This record gives sequence, C-alpha cells and structure tokens, in this order.
Amino acid sequence: MEIKFENVSYSYLAGTPLQVDALKNINTTIIPNQINAIIGPSGSGKSTMIELINGLKLPTKGTVYVGKHRLRNNIRIINANKLRFDIGVVFQNPEDQFFQKTVKKEIEFGMKYFGYKIDKIDERVNNALKMVGLDDSYLFRDPFNLSGGEKRKVAIASVLAFNPEVIIFDEPTNALDSTSKESLIKLMKLLKTKYNKTIIVVSHDVDILYRFVDNVIILSNGELLMQGNKFEVFKNVDFLTEHGVKVPRIVEFIHKVKCKTGKYLGDLDDLNDLIKEIYQNVQ
Ligand code: ADP
Repeated sequence: MEIKFENVSYSYLAGTPLQVDALKNINTTIIPNQINAIIGPSGSGKSTMIELINGLKLPTKGTVYVGKHRLRNNIRIINANKLRFDIGVVFQNPEDQFFQKTVKKEIEFGMKYFGYKIDKIDERVNNALKMVGLDDSYLFRDPFNLSGGEKRKVAIASVLAFNPEVIIFDEPTNALDSTSKESLIKLMKLLKTKYNKTIIVVSHDVDILYRFVDNVIILSNGELLMQGNKFEVFKNVDFLTEHGVKVPRIVEFIHKVKCKTGKYLGDLDDLNDLIKEIYQNVQ
C-alpha cells in the first residue's frame, strides 16, 4: 500500500500565538513492501508523521494519501475503521495499547473489533503468538504482569493477528535485550519478504536501524532533510552531521577509511561483511 505526503504541514494549536509547526511542507513517499525508517532527533516531527498516517490527526495543510484513503483538513475520515484495519501501530509503550485481562483477550480484541469470524480467531491468536516467539503458556497470563520484552511481543502479536497491510513500529527495540532485538529484526524482515507488509519504523537507534531498513526519511526540525535508499542517503556524512543527524557507526568508519586512504569499502550494513572486506583489503 502506498503512502504519500503531498505538501503536508501540521501545526499544533494552529492559529494561536502558541502555534507549533511540527511538520512543514513535507513531500515524501513510503515505499510499499519495504522497510522504511523515519529518523530524526527528538521533537523533529516523527510521532506527528505517524499520527497523520493512521488518521489520528489530519494535516493542517496538504494531503496524506494512504492507499485509497485521502486525508485532508476539513475532510472527515469517512472510513476510519477501515484505515485502522489497514494500518497497525505497535506503540512505543506496549502498556498504552493493553486493556484486557489476558494475553489471549488482548490479541483477540483487534480481530473481534474488525469483525473476524470466531472460528478463525483462535488459530490466528496462536499463529501471532508463535510469530513473536511466545508459546501457548502465555495465553491466560495478565499482559500487565509480563517483562518489558514480553509485553512488546504481545503488543506486536495483537497487531499481527488482524493482518494489517502496513505496520508501524514506534521505537520497537526499546526495553528489549539483545537476543529479543535480533529476533524482532528477523521478524520485521520476514513480514516484508514473506508477508509483503509495508513496514515503517521510528527509532533513534540509527545503528540498529541501518542493519535492516531499506529506505530512510530524515526529519529535522519539522522539515524533510533527506529521503531515499539508506546507502545513498547516508553517503552524505558531512551534510547529515552538520545538521545534527547521527550517522551509523559502520557508515562513519567506511567514510573515515575513504577520507584517509581514498578506498571505498562498499555499501555495507553488516559488521561481519565489513570485517570480511577489511581482511580482503589487507591481504
Ligand atoms: P518526535 O516524535 O520527533 O519527538 P513530535 O512529532 O512528537 O516529534 O513533535 C514535533 C513538535 O511538535 C515538537 O516541537 C513538539 O514539542 C511539538 N508537539 C508535539 N505534541 C504537541 C502537542 N500536543 N501540543 C503542542 N506541541 C506539540
């Protein structure tokens, strides 16, 4: 599903003396069936952008196209439920999306809300749990009494269960240990390759993001600083650093080697590939 921002601005308290222009004339496209990252320092407009995509907010100016939905100021979202059904959001704090007494009820909720047939529901709950690496023993546990990592997995399972075309992950690796981070990265890749999902990830952890995303949208102070394929965007190390954008360490290293020796080690996003490349170069 294509998501497109056309001349989109969003201002909080629009028209008052305290107006905050959170997004300023944004033109960008989220590429379908790929992993897209929205990157930027705190306050740059990332959350506002997500809320515009899932229809929680409407643009002050411009249009957001989400598949067939056209979201503009003054237009009521005629089919808000359909939009929520197409776009699943895994919120930053899993507890924000919990309000049921058991994991099973929590995961079922979205499907019941969207009118899934009852006989499908149990099977889907079990599959969704399995996809995030939790077994049946979790079904009747209280979601509020799980560890941070387990809560996040349940939050993801409850979104996967209703099978949205687009899944937004807001700071998904927060509170996860390194093993859980690795399995989450694998899951996001699988959702893209096997299930053809469009993934949007918002994170400040640029080192982790760089390993698995395809495209990046970089926001700075409510403006679109750069967008495109991650390798192409992050080649602009000096420009990005000047604008206060943290560059992945692997990119920084490859850039330093290039500045000092003139040798470009390649478009690499994996530390093991980098080490192999260095070995080959020193032999
Ligand atoms: P990010 O997610 O990148 O941290 P946000 O989208 O939350 O950025 O915020 C963008 C700008 O909008 C910031 O300057 C922030 O202070 C402001 N902002 C966010 N929410 C509100 C609000 N409810 N009222 C007024 N200003 C807000």
